[in-house]
Amino acid sequence: MLAIRADLLDFTATPAWQSTDEAGVRFRPDHWLLVGDDGRILGAQTADPGPDFERHDHRGRLLLPGFIDTHVHGPQLDVIASYGTGLLDWLDTYTFPAELRHADPEVAALGAAHFLDALLAHGTTAAVVFPTVHLASTSALFEAASARNMRLIAGKVLMDRHAPDGLLDDVAGAERDCEALIERWHGQGRNAYAVTIRFAVTSTPEQLAMAGALSRRHPGIYLQTHVAENRDEVRWVAELFPQARSYLDVYHQHGLLHERAVLAHGIWLDAHDRALLRDTGAQIAFCPSSNLFLGSGLFDWQGAVDAGHQVSLASDVGGGTSLSMLRTAAEAYKVQALHGTRLTAWAALHAATRGAAEGLGLSHEIGHLDPGALADVVVWDWAVGAVAGHRDAMARGAVPGVPAQPLHARVFAWMTLGDERNAVARYVAGEQQILEPG
Ligand SMILES: [Zn+2]
Repeated sequence: MLAIRADLLDFTATPAWQSTDEAGVRFRPDHWLLVGDDGRILGAQTADPGPDFERHDHRGRLLLPGFIDTHVHGPQLDVIASYGTGLLDWLDTYTFPAELRHADPEVAALGAAHFLDALLAHGTTAAVVFPTVHLASTSALFEAASARNMRLIAGKVLMDRHAPDGLLDDVAGAERDCEALIERWHGQGRNAYAVTIRFAVTSTPEQLAMAGALSRRHPGIYLQTHVAENRDEVRWVAELFPQARSYLDVYHQHGLLHERAVLAHGIWLDAHDRALLRDTGAQIAFCPSSNLFLGSGLFDWQGAVDAGHQVSLASDVGGGTSLSMLRTAAEAYKVQALHGTRLTAWAALHAATRGAAEGLGLSHEIGHLDPGALADVVVWDWAVGAVAGHRDAMARGAVPGVPAQPLHARVFAWMTLGDERNAVARYVAGEQQILEPG
């Protein structure tokens, strides 16, 4: 059995929107988190649990549930931080050539291992991931996640038009590949399959219909795609699907919106679309660093709250510029500030932990520190470097004559100034993950 000593922070409920009140926030300073031999959380206590437990003493540090990144592209680590394009020419110039390389099973296997270790290094223990159109890259990702016992949701990318030859499938071949992958991986260990449509532009109506049929045939599987990211893209979708009311409606018409559907971006949606998301239970993965980097637009989180649909946070690497969910949260705050809304640390961190788990139907397993959950947890330094160290000292009242600030102030400064350098130790189902340096 394992016990980890730290300041424990998680959520017991959704925090009130735009409120720094601590309702729904559970902060247990200097507690031992107890983990059973089955990798599940037993509870937490202030008293030393004694020698029956392997004790990891991280006193003075912070411990949170591992972050959940609800939209990220493994192979795009090859092109993160590439200059000078918006969405559509980004795909042609950088993404598609990079993804072509992952047809090679050896490249795919190395890439998958590198990608999942990078997620762990950044404090992310679960993710919803796009590999490529190739069966080999999808299998490699599931294999690498199984080797690490990580919670993974992924699926072969569907693309049967508007992409280079080596990245195109066809309806019958794609259906065969999906069926084989579902049979092999869905529900195996901590893997789940997602019907993975790149976006409406790169799938024919016939392929979308096949994807809808697949979803109906396998009711437990997920769906992931992109929607309404960029205005040129939205115009193109309107030309390709003139009978649809909106971009989102293309997916709805093909039976693709449901409670396990994760749609990245959702910047250019109207009130009808938002109501449709609420009514179907589909969620938007908000990807602020990608939206800023590609100049796609500013997601309106307040609009989503008003409409009552689910929002999670995602890095969208390689359009996004960091796998760090702390950096992602800090960028989310800035995007919402441009909308005139102040995103609390509670809302952002909840969306990256318990909120994401609930949206994915996985709150029995991840996203919080309740007894029974798997111990996917990360230990963080409150501050790294002189500036963050001083700011943290101000917040906790360690500077003479300066009173301690409310907990939100300290956590918000951590979220805003922190990144993967703050991550000290990572545990997946109670197993500490020792990563190769660099
Ligand atoms: Zn994406």
